[in-house]
Amino acid sequence: MGYSVGIFVDEVDDNLLCSICSQVLQDAVLTPCGHSFCQECLDQWLARPERITCPHCRGAVIREQARPILALRNFVLSLKIHCVNRSLGCEALITLDTLTSHAETCGHSIVQCAGCQCTLKRIQLPDHQTRCRVIAALIQDDEHALEAPRSDSPKDTMLSDLSGRVSTLEAHIQQMKA
Ligand SMILES: [Zn+2]
Ligand SMILES: [Zn+2]
Ligand SMILES: [Zn+2]
Ligand SMILES: [Zn+2]
Repeated sequence: MGYSVGIFVDEVDDNLLCSICSQVLQDAVLTPCGHSFCQECLDQWLARPERITCPHCRGAVIREQARPILALRNFVLSLKIHCVNRSLGCEALITLDTLTSHAETCGHSIVQCAGCQCTLKRIQLPDHQTRCRVIAALIQDDEHALEAPRSDSPKDTMLSDLSGRVSTLEAHIQQMKA
């Protein structure tokens, strides 16, 4: 599948469209008959044994004949696009090749709080984490654990009491049997 036409800032030339998916060419390849497609689209088209023809002109094509068009790939990657989070308020205009790196830092990307698992925008995360109840509780638990070492915890005292009583009982039973 190619890049969605809607993400591009300027109108895209018809020559940059893949005639299989009707989107902007992704990893463009050229057939011997002179037609270009997304690599993935053409691969999928030619994957069926009965399809050994160009989807556009029906000229004969086999997979090995389709060549990458590097100049065209680079040109497409240099086109200006809107951030994928445009609908969430990101106004950034970026080039297609920086799409991934921008999304990793875009303040409007949706992220998840590691504490309460709620989802929110990246720019809201620091503020949320200072007020997140789950994170506050986790920090408090950590502090308690430091104050009270494990061996002295009430649960352990109860358990050793209990096993002491059990062995006393067992001794009584042995005496009754004798
Ligand atoms: Zn395509
Ligand atoms: Zn063709
Ligand atoms: Zn953005
Ligand atoms: Zn949270």
